[in-house]
Amino acid sequence: MSTTPIIRIEHLTKTYTMGTTHVHALRGISLEIQPGEMVAIMGPSGSGKSTLMNIIGCLDRPTDGSYWLEGLDVAQMDDDRLAEVRNARMGFVFQQFNLLPRTSALRQVELPMLYSGEDNKEARARAALAAVGLEDRGSHKPAEMSGGQQQRVAIARALVNDPAIIMADEPTGALDTRTGQEVLAIFQRLNREGKTILMVTHEYDVGQHCKRVVRFKDGHIIADEPVENPLDALEELARLPRYRDEDEEDEL
Ligand code: ADP
Ligand code: MG
Repeated sequence: MSTTPIIRIEHLTKTYTMGTTHVHALRGISLEIQPGEMVAIMGPSGSGKSTLMNIIGCLDRPTDGSYWLEGLDVAQMDDDRLAEVRNARMGFVFQQFNLLPRTSALRQVELPMLYSGEDNKEARARAALAAVGLEDRGSHKPAEMSGGQQQRVAIARALVNDPAIIMADEPTGALDTRTGQEVLAIFQRLNREGKTILMVTHEYDVGQHCKRVVRFKDGHIIADEPVENPLDALEELARLPRYRDEDEEDEL
């Protein structure tokens, strides 16, 4: 049985026009990602990584070329349908967590369900927090949590609608090594459980935790290779010295 790629992109371009200036952020990208892959998108600043993530995540549309998401032609969707697909099928995690400062962890995680007609919002939000080891942090606001905990709240928020794809743009960029490993361990577990994961990173080591690395330069893909023996974040964590308080040793 052949499977439909979860993402299929052909000759995709994105040109930003500002007055008379045209910035060619993507210059004809073709890419297929299968369900269950864990892919690192790497490349220098300005090479088009975030532009591609925004298009794949249905936050923006390409200038030209095709994008099929789970076999559906995204160009044929109107803006309402695109928003629906984005909310139901995509989970987003960002470098700066993007949490609301005065909102408890539990409420943050409930937010993506606002329009989904879900009746068990609180129970589902609690389950998502438990899935990232934060079951006892539901009432905490961002300022009352460490960076790693805040990023885990953001991951719980990304997970709560049970998306097909998790899109993470530099998810460890604002974290120290150990906390970054904890976050990678969560992504690796989610991937083992079947989630497709796309992660932008600048760091070679982070890319080596994925199963495949796609490299960008100047709006082109310049390399696309499997990772032979991906690093296991949990194994590495077991080897790293502990230097954090007990708070940080939650179950992952
Ligand atoms: P990366 O994520 O790899 O750093 P980006 O996708 O953010 O790269 O940017 C690719 C290019 O497109 C850069 O030259 C950037 O300045 C430009 N760009 C990105 N977003 C916009 C925008 N909204 N308007 C104009 N130019 C943009
Ligand atoms: Mg970027």
